[in-house]
Amino acid sequence: MSDSLPSPGLPAPRPCLSIWQRSTRHSTLLNEGSASELPPTADVIVIGSGMSGALTAFELLSAPNGPKNVIMLEAREACSGATGRNAGHCRPDAFRGFTAFSKRINPEQAMKIIAHEKLVLQLVKAFIQKHDIDCDFDYCQTFDVVMGDDFLQYIKGSFDAYKEAGGDMSGITWLDAENAKKATRVPSALGAYEWTAASLHPAKLCQAILELNKSLGMKLFTHTPAVSITASGNANNEWVVNTPRGNITAPIVVHATNAFAATLLPCLHSQVRPVRAQAHKVIPTPAFSGPNMLTHTYSLRFSLTHFYSVIQRKVDGVLVLGTSRGVPGMGQEVFETKDDTVHNPVIEEDCLANFKQVFSDWGEEVQGEGHEFGWTGILGLTKDAVPFIGPVPSLPGQFVIAGFNGHGMARIFGSAPGLAKIILGGSWSDTTMPECFQITEERLERLSALV
Ligand SMILES: Cc1cc2nc3c(=O)[nH]c(=O)nc-3n(C[C@H](O)[C@H](O)[C@H](O)COP(=O)(O)OP(=O)(O)OC[C@H]3O[C@@H](n4cnc5c(N)ncnc54)[C@H](O)[C@@H]3O)c2cc1C
Repeated sequence: MSDSLPSPGLPAPRPCLSIWQRSTRHSTLLNEGSASELPPTADVIVIGSGMSGALTAFELLSAPNGPKNVIMLEAREACSGATGRNAGHCRPDAFRGFTAFSKRINPEQAMKIIAHEKLVLQLVKAFIQKHDIDCDFDYCQTFDVVMGDDFLQYIKGSFDAYKEAGGDMSGITWLDAENAKKATRVPSALGAYEWTAASLHPAKLCQAILELNKSLGMKLFTHTPAVSITASGNANNEWVVNTPRGNITAPIVVHATNAFAATLLPCLHSQVRPVRAQAHKVIPTPAFSGPNMLTHTYSLRFSLTHFYSVIQRKVDGVLVLGTSRGVPGMGQEVFETKDDTVHNPVIEEDCLANFKQVFSDWGEEVQGEGHEFGWTGILGLTKDAVPFIGPVPSLPGQFVIAGFNGHGMARIFGSAPGLAKIILGGSWSDTTMPECFQITEERLERLSALV
């Protein structure tokens, strides 16, 4: 089925399992609705059960004037895309992206992107508190540790530019090399800066939202891929979403398919690119257990594209190490895949070797300590590194929220409520999102000219 669909097709039906999926195998949501009959019609069809789809559906269902009959289609298990397979950070950009986004888009939008991420952290925290969600949420301090000279030059420039442009410096602490070495436990640190972020169990959070949605009347059909969307031809100009298990007609369709958005939306071909990322579960040695645990989460920054993320979960001490695409000596073809059934042993080796070199007090491992397993997931990359959100040009009634560039946890809690407002008749100015997130003909055209 997948091979006959336009690229990138469908996600692999049986992906490898992440740390988050391995610890939620009891969830009855996983295969929900996979054997039930599909209804013929709905008010809204949401395609994709990750954080984007789950939260958009929640916002629609809980709006006073919102739709009641909301259907969610998921190609495989519930929440088995990037949301269920990420590295566990909800980490707003402190200021790092200011220079890059100023060049790529403009300084005003760069400022708004950063402000939006800081707002999202507060929105995530408030949502979890309000709904009393058990998802290992740890509102904590985080370090970017400067590990390379080029990155040091870049980040100093971005710090100054953001400050000069009037950026919000509150809560950001800059540490010189000497103080950074002490504070971060990284003897080779060239500097560091610290701000507030969070780590969480993304699958537990997403599943909790899906449960809330069910209590508000949403029907979830897992293992039910949407394979095409056709015009109904009826008087209301509705859409028919076709699946191997039957068809559903609705006036509104939401594409929350992230890396796979282009399969059903030709306008996103070459605009949202599936790229694989990898993370690892590591059990700490005594030097990193109990009172010796890391107090902060980290990004160890060798360059803009070569970095490693580190979280140490307060609830069990387990470390989650995330990797980037800039692993020296590795060709990009390793990352240019939509296959999340396996992980790459060379990336695993590089990540672990690096971690132990950076944290040189790690110590000897006994059996049961150290690396336990790795996993992969598929990111949706866009050419300007911001997502596509809003009404799909020329397809009235179809909406998209996709292309989170490996950074969705710091963006979706502002974007999904914004999209829901727009679906319900609001305008962009009613939302908190930067204008540059909007999908427009002009943006698609401009980006299509870029390689
Ligand atoms: C290894 C890794 C580490 C990461 N680390 C972080 C991190 O630390 N912090 C952070 O902010 N972000 C991180 N990310 C990125 C983050 O996970 C994503 O940005 C976010 O989860 C995107 O959510 P989403 O709901 O848009 O997409 P997804 O969670 O990918 O959901 C899309 C869903 O759509 C389904 N689908 C696709 N096509 C179809 C179809 N045709 N029919 C039906 N269903 C379909 C998929 O199966 C999937 O469940 C990481 C990602 C990976 C892979």
